[in-house]
Amino acid sequence: MSNTEGAVRPEQLLVYYPTPVLQKVATLATVEDLAKDDLVEKMFKVMNDHSGVGIAAPQIGVSKQVCIVRMLVPGEMKELCHGDDPKYQGIVMLNPEVSGRGDLEEEVEGCLSCPGISAHVHRKSWVVVKWTDEVGIPREMRFGNYAARIVQHEVDHLQGLCIINKLSPVDKITNAKALKVYDAMANRSRHAARSRQGR
Ligand SMILES: [Zn+2]
Repeated sequence: MSNTEGAVRPEQLLVYYPTPVLQKVATLATVEDLAKDDLVEKMFKVMNDHSGVGIAAPQIGVSKQVCIVRMLVPGEMKELCHGDDPKYQGIVMLNPEVSGRGDLEEEVEGCLSCPGISAHVHRKSWVVVKWTDEVGIPREMRFGNYAARIVQHEVDHLQGLCIINKLSPVDKITNAKALKVYDAMANRSRHAARSRQGR
């Protein structure tokens, strides 16, 4: 999830919608998966490079249920964060499950994988999340406010959903220009797939 609009610069690792990996349910992750290709390090790098407040593994092309939720208040939930350095003040979650939930609230969201799109998304105001941490310990914690929104946004990615799948009719109008670009990209990739199949 991003907290800035536009000005997203190209980054080789970051995967953009409509890449198929962003549209399928990611498989359950193990602690061993984290060691492969420095997955967590790469996710932090891409999130930091793009001023993101959260990221999910499919956004760097890895279809595993791993996400990072940035802690926006320095020192917040420090014991659960990846490191003391401000750039690592995020919680790495494996196989997160959202259960207890508050009332719905609407806010505008952006997404690293959908540059140019901003969506009014309804999210629960608080959630209880169960996940496995980086060393395999089961965790359970209540998240409120913006952290609750970030968790729900990242868990959506693990289920193959982006904010582009959640646009209201009004959002579709205000994002019409950007959506045309995404439609053109989708058509191009469909055409390329058909060409590869010799059809
Ligand atoms: Zn996102």
